[in-house]
Amino acid sequence: MIERATAADIVAATVRPEILALTKYAVAKAAGMIKLDAMESPFPLPAAVRARVAAAAADVQVNRYPDGDADALKAALIQAFAIPPTAQVILGNGSDELIQLITMSLARPGAAMVAPEPSFEMYRMDALFAGMRYAGVPLRADFALDPDAMETAIARERPALIYLAYPNNPTGNLFDRAAVERVLRAAPGLVVIDEAYYAFADASFMPRLTEFPNLLVLRTVSKIGMAGLRLGYAAAAPEWIAQFDKVRQPYNLNAMTQAVAPVLLAEHDLLSGWAAQLKAERTRLETALSGVAGVTVFPTRTNFVLVRVPDAPRWFEALRRAGILVKNRHGVHPLLEHCLRITVGTPDENDALLAALEALIGS
Ligand code: PMP
Repeated sequence: MIERATAADIVAATVRPEILALTKYAVAKAAGMIKLDAMESPFPLPAAVRARVAAAAADVQVNRYPDGDADALKAALIQAFAIPPTAQVILGNGSDELIQLITMSLARPGAAMVAPEPSFEMYRMDALFAGMRYAGVPLRADFALDPDAMETAIARERPALIYLAYPNNPTGNLFDRAAVERVLRAAPGLVVIDEAYYAFADASFMPRLTEFPNLLVLRTVSKIGMAGLRLGYAAAAPEWIAQFDKVRQPYNLNAMTQAVAPVLLAEHDLLSGWAAQLKAERTRLETALSGVAGVTVFPTRTNFVLVRVPDAPRWFEALRRAGILVKNRHGVHPLLEHCLRITVGTPDENDALLAALEALIGS
């Protein structure tokens, strides 16, 4: 009898070695927990808005493909977020999808991506998936962008693509505007300013799109109450968007999202009220956390707070046992030693977190 190869044999012989070497991105199970790990909005929809969402969903023709261009949703986004009329917009199934397709589009053989570190991990992952050379540039110890180091890396790598998260995840700070401008001027290729946390930052490069031909502003609605819809958007000069639109899957935005998102985007007061409430809670949390023995609080312009604690793995585990899920960033990067990333929740959730930390200190 001829020995047949097993699936494992064939996988080992065919899948790209860099993929074989990876471990899957872990999404923590959170059933029954207070979920402060993923920068979601903690607020459920009010009953009246739920009814409008239900009505919009009921009208969806699920037997038909959605509008491939998602024109109505695009119009709603342009109106809701003051996107300059000279720019064009592309939508993604989350901004994650846009990061992937922008990266794929620019991954010519030999091309490089540059990003500061630590930052959003998907930039480096997508460079790997696209076969693009990746060069990380360390942030300063206070998490500031180092414009000299960025310029040196740009001169060395001539990157086709640079990612700057503005504000940055997981550090939470907003990079200095002049330092970002230096990167934009020095870059020979595209600079993506990822404004996932813009609603909490009071700063944006969106109004400056016309000033920089190599600027793309990337956003998501995930942090402002719609993570479940999976909707991201990018604005840039029409020449860029025309190319990225070729790489986009023809029906990447599903019909439910196209029907429901405009209903929520029309709720200006609700959305801005939520953001204002989270910013106020953020301030309260920063102050309270600073008073917890052994905790260092880093400045944040996002809906999360990065803290350094004496023993992050132990504190993470103690919080988990108390029913509170945060994100442990210890071991991810030397600058994040013993750091926990805590998403701002409702007042009750934040109180529960603070009580659990006090109990931990007392134990
Ligand atoms: N960019 C940054 C900086 C992020 O932190 C995140 C979410 N963690 C994303 C992009 C992706 O967001 P989404 O895919 O939900 O739009």
